[in-house]
Amino acid sequence: MSQTLNSIFEAQQKHKYTLRNSNATQRIQKLKTLMAAIENHEEDIYAALQSDLRKSRFEAAVTEVIFIYSELRFAISKLGSWMKPKRAGKTMTSLLARNRIWYEPKGSCLIISPWNYPFQLMMAPLVSAIAAGNCAILKPSELSPATSAIIAKIVKTCFEEKEICCIEGDVSVSTALLALPFDHIFFTGSTAIGKVVMEAAAKHLSSVTLELGGKSPVIVDETADLKVAAEKIAWGKLLNAGQTCIAPDYVLVPQSQQESFIGHYKQAASAMFLKAGGQPNPEGYAKIINERHFNRIAGLMDDAVNKGARIAFGGEKDEASQSISPTLLSQLPLGTAVMEEEIFGPVLPLIPYENLEEAIARVNEKSKPLALYIFSSSKNNIRHILKNTSSGGACVNDVLVHISNPRLPFGGVNASGLGSSHGFFGFKAFSHERAVVFQPGINTTKIIYPPYEGKSWLL
Ligand code: NAD
Repeated sequence: MSQTLNSIFEAQQKHKYTLRNSNATQRIQKLKTLMAAIENHEEDIYAALQSDLRKSRFEAAVTEVIFIYSELRFAISKLGSWMKPKRAGKTMTSLLARNRIWYEPKGSCLIISPWNYPFQLMMAPLVSAIAAGNCAILKPSELSPATSAIIAKIVKTCFEEKEICCIEGDVSVSTALLALPFDHIFFTGSTAIGKVVMEAAAKHLSSVTLELGGKSPVIVDETADLKVAAEKIAWGKLLNAGQTCIAPDYVLVPQSQQESFIGHYKQAASAMFLKAGGQPNPEGYAKIINERHFNRIAGLMDDAVNKGARIAFGGEKDEASQSISPTLLSQLPLGTAVMEEEIFGPVLPLIPYENLEEAIARVNEKSKPLALYIFSSSKNNIRHILKNTSSGGACVNDVLVHISNPRLPFGGVNASGLGSSHGFFGFKAFSHERAVVFQPGINTTKIIYPPYEGKSWLL
């Protein structure tokens, strides 16, 4: 395997110099080829996502396939302007010069992706890598093998190995790839493995984009419309059965409104994800990816209950179908694992608070999250929360939707990630911003050369 990896890597090392000279028209053509291949394989993609995650066709279309079409269309329409060198102002040493920022391709890139949105999270960085004129090796997740296989097939129909190549496999493949001196590594996955990736990148000083996870909080204040808030939170939490990097992880609700929130959440979650009899609806509710994650989430619920938490809603687990019903936990004592690690499942802890400062302190005692959500109708409260917390992204009176706008940077901060993706931000992640000064032929900087006698007036 190592030999194959090395020879593909070597081929890409050579080819990256050809790609550097590609213009916008050529790159747009590649993006169009990719789009056509995705369109041709759309049914296979839906089948793969059904097989890996029991994702319904509608959910798969909205969150994976259509998502990528819009990323592709946006890149195709904007690439010409993204690639144009940007003007910069002048200084004393470049008064007569043209100062420019050139976007040059990083060169050869590695993209490693996770299993939860296995199509979208490999394709979105790939679109950016192609737009920026790079070669890339793709390593999708071994935990979503059907989708990995269709990605490999699509890539093979569009590109030669020396340009873009998908290599399926587990951690051993990732480890072998990470030993190679890539120009850039774009990793999406857990914070723990993000550290492994950054350590490997440090050996070659490869630049990195790390799209990681964390516990994304929701703060609902006393001015919020609880019914609307509960409905939006339930949708964002239970989409893909909670296996979403920016899913609301836990919700902070004013003490006095706890019971009312529980009522609205039950109603909203049942209407969207349960059958009339109260069981999860397999037509629209995903399963947990595998036995290990099913047991991990079940373990978080059991630990909380054993320590005294109350299951306010749901709590059913079905090992045979690897399904966990939408669950709301309340009355959580201190020290439960569900409030320590990223849940990444359909279990929502509800934490009551007395005043906003307490809610803000609860958020700030944890690592900076990937997303933060606020439900409020008070401009003062919204501003106060935003100014006194930090997160990769934030939504006010909604959840998740910031990810779908390619005009916004998507990414984390510190423990939840480094750098950003989507649209121009993704193009920049795969580009080096090169400062280029075009001086005229005459020597305009001579004025600061020695000897310095008589030049103190310049200081
Ligand atoms: P993971 O970190 O376990 O795996 C991600 C990828 O890394 C996979 O391709 C896997 O094969 C590879 N990998 C695993 N162990 C490795 C190792 N020791 N060395 C090198 N490579 C290794 O993550 P996951 O379980 O696939 O995905 C879930 C995590 O990803 C969650 O934490 C979630 O929040 C995060 N996530 C983040 C985003 C984002 O955009 N920020 C999106 C989706 C998921």
